Amino acid sequence: MAKTPRLLPENPRLFRARVLRSERVTPSMQRVTVTGDDLHEFPFLGFDHWFRLFLQRPDQDAFRMPDLDGKKWWPTFLAIPEAVRPHCANYTVAAYRLLADGTAELDIDFVVHTGPDGEPEGRAAIWACDARPGDALAMLDQGCIFDVPDDTSEVVIVAEETGLPGVVGIAASLPRDTVGRIIQEVPTAADVRQLDAPDGVTVTWIVRAEADGHAVPGRAALAELQRHVPVDDRGYAFVVGESTLATEGRRHLHRAGLPKSRITFSGFWKHEARRPVHA
Ligand SMILES: Cc1cc2nc3c(=O)[nH]c(=O)nc-3n(C[C@H](O)[C@H](O)[C@H](O)COP(=O)(O)OP(=O)(O)OC[C@H]3O[C@@H](n4cnc5c(N)ncnc54)[C@H](O)[C@@H]3O)c2cc1C
Repeated sequence: MAKTPRLLPENPRLFRARVLRSERVTPSMQRVTVTGDDLHEFPFLGFDHWFRLFLQRPDQDAFRMPDLDGKKWWPTFLAIPEAVRPHCANYTVAAYRLLADGTAELDIDFVVHTGPDGEPEGRAAIWACDARPGDALAMLDQGCIFDVPDDTSEVVIVAEETGLPGVVGIAASLPRDTVGRIIQEVPTAADVRQLDAPDGVTVTWIVRAEADGHAVPGRAALAELQRHVPVDDRGYAFVVGESTLATEGRRHLHRAGLPKSRITFSGFWKHEARRPVHA
């Protein structure tokens, strides 16, 4: 399996962009398509290419975004006075298109979720649902997390809906002779998508609404993963999404014989117990 340099770039670059359109593509996903004067220079790598997204907060009258290039952007960001500091969240490139006129478009898929009383929740998702053409944003390139070793026997990819944009990209980017499986949980049957996965990669969709629509995201995918036995100790696993899925998924795979160095896991967000759902 050929390896390409994809992890955090040496000099992460900031791209300023503006909204072209915002649309609900499936019941749980709001897609915002953006463009920008230098977006054609975005070094798109496929796989789960992700970025820090900077947005105007609702209490701000304008979007003010200083230059934050480089790996040491965080202290500079924190030094921005709170009243004018933009909101920052992590998102994945859902799609990137270079157009014939030399410009580029980038899609961002935001999981739409609600709080205990059913009200829209998540500052980025709320922004996405209200986004209008021309709204400003910025993206700091972070490269990929998926980091499969060259000698991998099988890949195991597990995610709930926040990992779906990355899983779509990974499936399409994997070498066509890859063997393994994808376990992808989504809230409803209408959130299931066609994945362009290699023939040797089986895809298991888990629809939360069909089992227990109120369950914590990621728990059903975790249960499915816990039934999986790695073929040998040369597999590679990528487990992302709600924090428990990531940490318990890694624990299972390691106990089942996969070295920790061959497991990439990332808690994308943390479920808070105040929500009226079953563990
Ligand atoms: C590398 C990486 C890539 C990511 N890519 C994507 C992506 O492409 N699309 C995507 O939708 N998310 C993605 N995420 C997850 C996303 O960053 C989090 O969901 C984040 O909390 C959203 O930011 P926010 O500012 O809206 O959340 P906040 O305003 O901080 O969240 C508010 C509340 O919502 C809860 N919450 C957050 N996300 C969810 C959820 N999905 N379901 C239920 N409750 C939730 C939080 O626990 C919190 O209580 C990614 C995360 C990482 C680390």
